[in-house]
Amino acid sequence: MGITRTRRNQLIWQVAALATQSYSDVAIAEHLGINRDTVARYRRATQPDQEDRPIPHGTPGGYTHHGCRCDPCTAANRENCRRTRAARKETP
Ligand SMILES: [Zn+2]
Repeated sequence: MGITRTRRNQLIWQVAALATQSYSDVAIAEHLGINRDTVARYRRATQPDQEDRPIPHGTPGGYTHHGCRCDPCTAANRENCRRTRAARKETP
């Protein structure tokens, strides 16, 4: 809290600019005076496709977002659908 959306946007683009110059998260965090975890989050926000993130197998997200059809992902998706249906049934 205490940080405006404008300020946040400025930080995100500063992080992106520094990240393209091969600064580490720690260096950027020190430079901007913000938390290292925040830097990591902002950096990912501006470079979503930079690295192939590992698919979280065994989660509905692995199935729906990554299109994975391995057994754990399929099972998780089936379970998720089942829960969603059950929840819908309970609401009048
Ligand atoms: Zn999978």
